[in-house]
Amino acid sequence: MAGLSDKVRERMRQQAQAIREGGGGGRTAPVFDLQGKNAVVQAGASVLARLCPRWDVARKFVRQGEAWVLSPEYQEDLIYFVALEHWWDDASGKPNREWCPKTFDEQAPCALCDASQELQQSPDKADREAGKRIQAKKAFLFNAVLGGPGKRHLTDDGKPDIRVLPMGNTLFVSVCGFMTGGDDEASAAFARGDISDPRDGYDLLLVRPKADSGERWTAQCAPQPSPLYAAAEAPAWAGWMDRLVDIPAMVEREVKGYDALYERYFGQRPPADDAGAPSAPAPAPAPTPSPFGGGSSATEQPAPAAAPLDPWAAPRAPAPPPARAAPVAPPPRGRGGPVRPAAAVGGQAAAAAPVGPEVRGGEEEGDEPSAPARRG
Ligand SMILES: [Zn+2]
Repeated sequence: MAGLSDKVRERMRQQAQAIREGGGGGRTAPVFDLQGKNAVVQAGASVLARLCPRWDVARKFVRQGEAWVLSPEYQEDLIYFVALEHWWDDASGKPNREWCPKTFDEQAPCALCDASQELQQSPDKADREAGKRIQAKKAFLFNAVLGGPGKRHLTDDGKPDIRVLPMGNTLFVSVCGFMTGGDDEASAAFARGDISDPRDGYDLLLVRPKADSGERWTAQCAPQPSPLYAAAEAPAWAGWMDRLVDIPAMVEREVKGYDALYERYFGQRPPADDAGAPSAPAPAPAPTPSPFGGGSSATEQPAPAAAPLDPWAAPRAPAPPPARAAPVAPPPRGRGGPVRPAAAVGGQAAAAAPVGPEVRGGEEEGDEPSAPARRG
C-alpha cells in the first residue's frame, strides 16, 4: 500500500472536515462560521481569536545551517484577502452564498451582479431593495485560530485548528485600527502593528451581538502581546505554517462561472438565445498548484526536521522578523445585511453593463461577518 505524506493526509482530513461541517456548501477549506448552526460563538457571547500570519509566511525564512534567516525574496504583503461574495435566500428562505467572479477580474461576467443590477433598475421599491441585498459584498478573509494564549484550539487529532475567519466591514475596520492606530498621527502612536506576529502578536476578543439586537459585531484587542503558541503547545504546533489556508487559491477553486451562478440563482440554465447575456463564460479557475489545494509555499518550505521546529520556536536570535504593521487597505463603505428571497426576475438576463464590485452605501442592517441570520 502506498502511504500518504503527512502533509497530504492532513490536508485531505481538513477538506473532509470542511465538507462534513457544511457551512454554506462548496467549501474546500475549513472556515469559522460566525453564525448559523455551526457558529463558533453564540449570540450575546464572545470568543478569543488570534489572527495568523499571511498564508505564504513559510517562504519568509530560509534555513541556513542551524539558523533561520529572512529570505531576501519574500515580500511583505496584506495578511488577509478581500473577496466579493453574494448572499441570497432561496425560495424556502435558506441562505445561499457564492463568491463573485469579479473578485479576480472586474470585467468577469456574473449572473448575480446582473440580477442585482436589473432589480435595482426596477420601478418597484421592493425589487430595488432586493437588488441591493444580493449585490456583492466584501469579505475580509484571515487565517485564524480560536482560544486564548496557551489554550489555542486543536482539531480532533491534536493539530492547531487554523481556519479561514471571514470578517465583515465592522470587524475589519476595528482590526485595521488596532494595527495602524487609525487615520491620524496622534492615534498612530497607539498602533500595535502586526497583531498576527507569532511572537509578539495580540489576541482579539470578538463579541457577537445579542440576537435581533440590531447591533454589530465588535472586537477588542488584548492589552498585552502574546505568542501564537506557548512552549507547552509547541509539539502540537509543529508544521503549523503548512496548515495556513492559501486563501486566494481557495476562493479561486470555489468561484463559479456565469452559467453555474445563473443556474444556482434562477434554478435553471441561462437561455441559449439570450442576446443580453455575455457570450463568454467566466474564465475557468486556474489550475491549483496541488490537487489538494496546497499553496506553493507548502512545497517550497524546507522540512524542519530538527529543532527549532519553525523560525518562531527559537528565541529571537539571528534575524528577527520586523515588527512592522502589515499594510492595510482603506476600509470600504457599506455592507448590507441578510438577503431576502429575490423578487422574480424575468427570463431575460440583465443588460451586459458590468456592475462594479464596490459595495455601495445602503442600509446597514448590522455586520454579518459570515452567514446572514435566518429569518423567522
Ligand atoms: Zn457578482
